[in-house]
Amino acid sequence: MVEIERHDYDVLVIGAGGAGLRAAIEARQRGLRTAVICKSLFGKAHTVMAEGGIAASMGNVNSRDEWRVHFRDTMRGGKFLNNWRMAELHATEAPDRVWELETYGALFDRTADGRISQRNFGGHEYPRLAHVGDRTGLELIRTLQQKIVSLQQDDHAETGEYESRLRVFQECTVTELLKDGDRMAGAFAYWRENGRFVEFRAPAVILATGGIGKSFKVTSNSWEYTGDGHALALKAGAALINMEFVQFHPTGMVWPPSVKGILVTESVRGDGGVLRNSEDRRFMFDYIPEVFKDNYADSEDEGDRWYDDPDTNRRPPELLPRDEVARAINSEVKEGRGSEHGGVFLDVSSRMPAEEITRRLPSMHHQFKELADVDITAGPMEVGPTCHYVMGGVEVEPDTAASRVPGLFAAGEVAGGMHGSNRLGGNSLSDLLVFGRRAGAGASEYVQGIGARPAPAESDVDAAARRAEDPFDPGDSATSAENPYTLHHELQQSMNDLVGIIRRGEEMRQALDALTGLRERARHLAVEGNRQFNPGWHLALDLRNMLLVSECVARAAVLRTESRGGHTRDDHPGMDPNWRKTLLVCTLDGPPHGVESPVEVVEQPQTPMREDLLALFQLDELRKYFTEDELAAVPSAES
Ligand code: FAD
Repeated sequence: MVEIERHDYDVLVIGAGGAGLRAAIEARQRGLRTAVICKSLFGKAHTVMAEGGIAASMGNVNSRDEWRVHFRDTMRGGKFLNNWRMAELHATEAPDRVWELETYGALFDRTADGRISQRNFGGHEYPRLAHVGDRTGLELIRTLQQKIVSLQQDDHAETGEYESRLRVFQECTVTELLKDGDRMAGAFAYWRENGRFVEFRAPAVILATGGIGKSFKVTSNSWEYTGDGHALALKAGAALINMEFVQFHPTGMVWPPSVKGILVTESVRGDGGVLRNSEDRRFMFDYIPEVFKDNYADSEDEGDRWYDDPDTNRRPPELLPRDEVARAINSEVKEGRGSEHGGVFLDVSSRMPAEEITRRLPSMHHQFKELADVDITAGPMEVGPTCHYVMGGVEVEPDTAASRVPGLFAAGEVAGGMHGSNRLGGNSLSDLLVFGRRAGAGASEYVQGIGARPAPAESDVDAAARRAEDPFDPGDSATSAENPYTLHHELQQSMNDLVGIIRRGEEMRQALDALTGLRERARHLAVEGNRQFNPGWHLALDLRNMLLVSECVARAAVLRTESRGGHTRDDHPGMDPNWRKTLLVCTLDGPPHGVESPVEVVEQPQTPMREDLLALFQLDELRKYFTEDELAAVPSAES
């Protein structure tokens, strides 16, 4: 029998990015014994990479901003598919979460009169992103970690032990959730360094594991983004929604190869950068969709004037929501007006002096100079779409972040609903804090309300250990042993080519066939060596999650026969109001890694928006998105 280390907590938070840390702080502040587990080093979460800022309608730069405007922008960005209650909570609570970060020690950039500065971003009507240069995520994580240390110091003062109520387990990967009947009971994990197994017992588990980008070939995401939380939730009986909506950020570097996929923050455009094709044309003026015509400049002059006088001019179309810009770049390249390496040109160098660029965008300048010898103050960058963010995730109850499984909660990028079909830039960092806090509160209240504590069955823990060790023992299938790196490469290629930025039914069906083949081959995954720091083994385990989650993406994408936000279909180019009322919900029906596809996708009606929120929109705008039946029910439609 394998030796397994064991820990008991009240609340287990899986993930140490912005969502996980804010959740852990909340649970600990409410008096619960809390553990944070992360598969990377503490401090190296994806959140660290966030550049542009955190969206909150504080109104510091334009006093007209307020939560209702932010709510409207978020719903528009998500093409009205968002869970409106989440969008409401997010818009109303984001300013408090930013101010709270200041009390934890965050040092935001300031306006001339000393307030937190806010910058423009695509889809946001007013300057709304609080920022720290282009290193906002780093400051957010630094500050949350500092808060955790200060809580641990309080605990030391009171109990004599720093980790008595809040402990971080870093470089520890969770492979399975453990249940007692239908309730959460803990998680099974291994230490990355020595491969030893760990059983965590806790009645409440918060998933805060981030996204899925590593299933795609060109991505801005780092190695942790293998959809673990999405897969853990599915396997535990929770549902995923909106999985067909994957955001391709319009401006990833396409050249040189050393920086391919790496993000060029939207602040480059927010601060004046423009997109040009190989004919030197600012092509975004040719791509302003009908629904946004009134809000965007129709000439370069007006667009340029907007930077200094936003009240009497409309914003330039380079600042359209990300899905629109990504599609436009894709079309330009397809029509032969792209750059030599298959992108377009993003130029900030001719728009402001070099010192100004290095002051406003220090990381961008430093990173591309160091990694690729590209000087963004001297010439344009070659950019194109890169897989960046998944709007889809665990279906949660908006106020508490609770999933369908008692005791299982989710927050941050792993949760679905908040961003609908397309996320606005800056709305993720605020989402992490708003719903991280709510998940911490929801989990704490859940634990305080349960009677007998659940406990995982020993046989389940042993089974989890066996499944983790499977790749070392391919058994009879040794002759057909599969290499995890090969399978990963093939998965990324299929998702990139067949379920990427522009989709077609026929290609996605090919992708599903490819995924079936990969699922079958993954049953024969084999790795050499032992459990001591073994990246091949780690990938073999991650790959199971990537395959499961990719199947959700492809299955939902085939079914949604319209184009909306991050889901663009060549064979169904328009938005269909009937689809706006409908969510696609993925669950597992059968063993996760069996021969048959375990993923089931069903349609579920959206909850109609509350009347007072509907009243925030003009009927003319709603007409672009809603069905006749829905419009008839809008209060203002009656008059
Ligand atoms: P993360 O910060 O990714 O944390 C996930 C955690 O889960 C990590 O600690 C990881 O180790 C852990 N984990 C994962 N799987 C497991 C497992 N199996 N076991 C244990 N631990 C696990 N958003 C904005 O709002 N503004 C921006 O300016 C912005 N800029 C961005 C720039 C870049 C380059 C990128 C890639 C994204 C950007 N985003 C931005 C998006 C935003 O950064 C992410 O959506 C957000 O940080 C996700 O936070 P999270 O807390 O959900 O997950």
